[in-house]
Amino acid sequence: MPDKNCPKCKGYGFTLTEEVYMGSPVTVPCVCMLKEALKLQCEKAWKDLSSVPVDRKSPMIGKMKENLRLVASQTELAIHLRTAILSERNPTLNIRVVSDATLISAWLSNVSDENKVDPDLIRDINVRGLEDLAEAPDLLIVRLGVKRARNSATSEVLIETIELRQHLNKATWIVDEPNKPLQEGHLAWSSALEDTLNGWKIYNVNGADSFATAQTKKKPNLSLDFKKAQL
Ligand SMILES: [Zn+2]
Repeated sequence: MPDKNCPKCKGYGFTLTEEVYMGSPVTVPCVCMLKEALKLQCEKAWKDLSSVPVDRKSPMIGKMKENLRLVASQTELAIHLRTAILSERNPTLNIRVVSDATLISAWLSNVSDENKVDPDLIRDINVRGLEDLAEAPDLLIVRLGVKRARNSATSEVLIETIELRQHLNKATWIVDEPNKPLQEGHLAWSSALEDTLNGWKIYNVNGADSFATAQTKKKPNLSLDFKKAQL
């Protein structure tokens, strides 16, 4: 939807160019249309993402198609992701932020329902849920450290997700919290996962103001508390 108060297009959503084609002036979409599309893209990726501040010096600019690891608190991830989305200016990219907990429950429900009353139906539902989570996005961002209980499947699920996406030639960002680095002792760590992530660049955007990371009692959900964002 165009911006009704847009000074450029007066709410029409497009502007005229100097060019004429087949006797009619050529129009181009107005920048307010792009702004709106990018806002929707942010909200689809992660609820409330469109209202966080941007960091114009973010190292995530131009990294939407790369596999990488990011060390960032929840707030920092939001800031850098929004910045990357706005600078990419490609609202057709499907971006999703999921937690390790969400990803793992999707995978586990998929494998453990074999013996239920109507396994085919259940499997079908879960596979679609999985495709939606792990396969569909052009960029999948997995936040580690949300899952609290140890589960030996955690690193396997991450490896499977990454391999699946590499096969589809789609980018994945693996994000760990500054106070919970992905190394031996981390709930998701395994030497096999380390091998899978071998060669991935690690970006540490954890600034001195990463106070949000000191809180580990946060509920494992994807809602954001942007009031704490400090710039
Ligand atoms: Zn406009």
